[in-house]
Amino acid sequence: MPEEELELIGQFARKKLNADELYTFSLILCDNEIDRDSEKFTVSALHTLAKLFVGKTGIFDHNMKSKDQTARIYAAEVMTDPQRKTADGEDYTYIKAKAYMVRTEKNKDLIAEIDAGIKKETSVGCCIKDISCSICGRNIKTEGCEHQKGKVYGGKLCCYLLSEPTDAYEWSFVAVPAQKNAGVIKSFNPAQETAKLAEWANEYKNELKADIIRAAASVIPEMKSAALDEICDSLSLDMLREMRSAFDMSARKNLPVVRQLDCKKADGENENSEYKI
Ligand SMILES: [Zn+2]
Repeated sequence: MPEEELELIGQFARKKLNADELYTFSLILCDNEIDRDSEKFTVSALHTLAKLFVGKTGIFDHNMKSKDQTARIYAAEVMTDPQRKTADGEDYTYIKAKAYMVRTEKNKDLIAEIDAGIKKETSVGCCIKDISCSICGRNIKTEGCEHQKGKVYGGKLCCYLLSEPTDAYEWSFVAVPAQKNAGVIKSFNPAQETAKLAEWANEYKNELKADIIRAAASVIPEMKSAALDEICDSLSLDMLREMRSAFDMSARKNLPVVRQLDCKKADGENENSEYKI
């Protein structure tokens, strides 16, 4: 693994990791194709999302929430394939992300599964500020229009264009049998999806809090975790993220470098293999 990659990963890990402790893989996070809800991300939304997803953790299938089954995105870039067109004729554009996992005995099978290229679909959770109609360009949330997504008007398919993402919560891999129900979960639909996003935001907040409290134990051991917990409750996600990275950095300076030797050595071959969905 190149040194720059290790450095990128180092920004997120709580301790210094060695190349042989890490498993990395690439995945396509989301794209500008019209999805099964007749909605699509704009290319500019993909650029914003690529930035927002760096540092975010993902899970494999929704019920596997143990630490061993999570991966973290450490780099993401927007790629375009001019040879391939979307249903509405744009160049196919997608976010290619790189993620890492720390190898453990427990995630050995999962890693083997990824290496074997077992297909999974990615689903992402994010907040979208602007949704507009592809036919008339009106803002769906504030103005509304007479067009129905999924219908064809004058030979043109109506879809909703999703732009201006404001936050990204989590991403997950869903095994193919569940594919029909998987997809991009967006925050603009009332009730159900809002509740789902609130749940995700809450889980994400708890994850940030747990990280902060863990790091604080070594940086400011005098601080009671209950007090810190209460402080964290009053902070926004952005502030929590800021606090976590500050604590993480200080904690890393305080900690001796520990090496885990129970991990299998990476064979290097699959480290950056393309993991297409
Ligand atoms: Zn319209």
